[in-house]
Amino acid sequence: MEKLSKHVSRKEGAYSITAKRLGLENNPTDDHLSNMINIAENVFEPLRAHVNGPIKINSFYRGPELNKAIGGSSKSQHCHGQAMDIDDSYGHASNSEMFNWIRANLNYDQMIWEFGTDKNPDWVHISYVSEDKNRNRCLKAYRENGKTKYMII
Ligand SMILES: [Zn+2]
Repeated sequence: MEKLSKHVSRKEGAYSITAKRLGLENNPTDDHLSNMINIAENVFEPLRAHVNGPIKINSFYRGPELNKAIGGSSKSQHCHGQAMDIDDSYGHASNSEMFNWIRANLNYDQMIWEFGTDKNPDWVHISYVSEDKNRNRCLKAYRENGKTKYMII
């Protein structure tokens, strides 16, 4: 399998600069791949069609070693291939525009406005479980006394 969806390659889904630098394996299982296909088809592709251009995926699947290396939560949906971090590096829509469009138009599990300002997050975390199990929950990540906290928005 070369592609998870029309515009997301399997390579992109498992790519991590950190894994590469540390020489870590970052290989999704078949179950992870099936989750990755779900979010790619149900969130990424409709969003990409809306912004009408490429969207940068900064982080998608994270195997246990990689997740530990970057200090990610052990409960992170990235570890199941259910979450991706997207960023407006290519400039077709701002992160806040993508956040608001997903919120208004798609079924998703959890979306996080990641830091940044009230006008624009630094990046957007989005997860997808299944049509029935998705919680459609929005959080905002912020720092307080050096710790990451979340509020429901
Ligand atoms: Zn994330």
